[in-house]
Amino acid sequence: MRISDPVKIESISEVLMKPGCPLCAFLKNEQALLLKGGMRSEEVLDLCNFHAWAFAAVTDVRHVAHIFTKVLKRRAVAGHGEDHDRCSVCARILKAEVVQLKELLLTLQSEPVRVWMEHQGTLCVTHASHLRQRAPEDLHPVIDKIVARVAKSLEVELETLLRRSGSHSNSGGGALGRAAEFIVSQRGIKH
Ligand SMILES: [Zn+2]
Ligand SMILES: [Zn+2]
Repeated sequence: MRISDPVKIESISEVLMKPGCPLCAFLKNEQALLLKGGMRSEEVLDLCNFHAWAFAAVTDVRHVAHIFTKVLKRRAVAGHGEDHDRCSVCARILKAEVVQLKELLLTLQSEPVRVWMEHQGTLCVTHASHLRQRAPEDLHPVIDKIVARVAKSLEVELETLLRRSGSHSNSGGGALGRAAEFIVSQRGIKH
């Protein structure tokens, strides 16, 4: 797994106008921060499969070795199998997601932002659904419109791709990547 270099993003509004789902963009960066030194080894109590391998790919060998030593010791106690719910990185990302979902809902109270999101913004299916669960009912149609619009434009992109490419073409990267992002969130985002 390749982990991109994290940058400082304070809030969801900083990534709102960029292409793609803003929650994916924020959480992917947050995950990179956590994996690249953003968590002290004492904070990591356990790891899921995904995040253990993500740490294994990080270049700060000493830091990760400390983290793994701690998890190893915990796991050596009988009865501590892998438990997805106990992964400390998953827990931190989940927390960050909740904060940013609330932030995005606050931002959407502004009429211009709401109109812009409705007509030009993007949300992946997963984050749209998480946002909808927390949104007041009057925002549901806005969220549904975003999802329907993005789905439609991706369908058109895929149709164009199918018309243009031969049966063994490998050049659909852009459209296929955007469709994958919409369906399952950006690569490397775990739910
Ligand atoms: Zn997303
Ligand atoms: Zn995890």
